[in-house]
Amino acid sequence: MEISQPGELIELFMDPQWQQTERLVLGGGSNMLFINDFDGLVIRMNIRGIDHRINHDEVFVVAGAGEVWNDLLNYCVAHEYAGLENLSLIPGSVGASPIQNIGAYGVELKDVFYTCNAFEIATGKFKTFTHEDCHFGYRDSAFKSELKGQYIIVSVKFRLSLVPDVKLHYGAIKDELAKRNITSPTIKDVSDVVSHIRVSKLPDPSTIGNAGSFFKNPVIPVDEFRAIRSYFPAIVNYPAADGEVKLAAGWLIEQCGWKGKVVGHTGTWHNQALVLVNHGGATGEEVYSLSSQIIDSVYTKFGVMLEREVNMIR
Ligand SMILES: Cc1cc2nc3c(=O)[nH]c(=O)nc-3n(C[C@H](O)[C@H](O)[C@H](O)COP(=O)(O)OP(=O)(O)OC[C@H]3O[C@@H](n4cnc5c(N)ncnc54)[C@H](O)[C@@H]3O)c2cc1C
Repeated sequence: MEISQPGELIELFMDPQWQQTERLVLGGGSNMLFINDFDGLVIRMNIRGIDHRINHDEVFVVAGAGEVWNDLLNYCVAHEYAGLENLSLIPGSVGASPIQNIGAYGVELKDVFYTCNAFEIATGKFKTFTHEDCHFGYRDSAFKSELKGQYIIVSVKFRLSLVPDVKLHYGAIKDELAKRNITSPTIKDVSDVVSHIRVSKLPDPSTIGNAGSFFKNPVIPVDEFRAIRSYFPAIVNYPAADGEVKLAAGWLIEQCGWKGKVVGHTGTWHNQALVLVNHGGATGEEVYSLSSQIIDSVYTKFGVMLEREVNMIR
């Protein structure tokens, strides 16, 4: 069932079957792995619309849950509303963006999120969630943990800036700008460069099935990190909060010999071992099984347990 207006959710709620029905909310489906068919009501969010309000140097942009994330991003870049540009070309919908606090190239959704409006499945009421309510974490939010399955996000409000503060520290952004002889990048330059880097590294889901990064980058205590580094001095790592260290899951997987490996109809992407791909005809079960083999081998070699980022339907 496709939802194009918030009021259609209330109509669904009035249906006597509503509370008994198994429900699955879908945006673009780009972070899902179907191991089995879903036996229930699929609610595809298609609420559209983008609006904005300028307040001095800030601009508040509200977008419907069904807007395509990259369309919203292009709208903001075209209007010179700064803040989203590092999140260019992430597949999926606006409504899903707070669920896992999407992030890329040194920026996370939480950096630009202001509020979201959501429909409560149990009561049929709409509620506004503030930044604090959402308990954002690394690829995580309250909607993935304590509030899981309780709300359907209908719109998201972002707090953006009319005074750009471009973030260039992450990955190859600076190198790519230098190659283009750009010394004072605009947000459009940053968006173009991030898009270019992503296209060169990641498979396009419209031509080869994938859900992006299949695993989260593991965050481990600094003592554990030092112990691992004594055996593997080249281990790729980034500082994390409170005496913890973030490891690059892609590097760990690559060290176990998985990069570019083809296993039946599945495999890992030749440019990025963190991405599992469907080479054609793979079942969800096969992809899941490959992910289990990868988890086992990374654990055996490094003693680090990878956690799947993708949402699974079993
Ligand atoms: C090639 C590729 C690259 C990617 N790169 C990145 C990246 O750089 N960074 C990153 O963070 N992610 C990345 N992803 C993952 C994906 O783009 C994000 O998770 C995105 O937010 C998913 O949006 P979607 O609309 O497709 O969500 P879906 O896959 O449809 O749903 C994801 C989850 O959110 C729930 N959901 C969706 N919409 C709503 C709603 N309106 N209300 C309540 N629940 C909802 C679903 O039930 C499900 O649990 C990538 C994926 C691919 C395929």
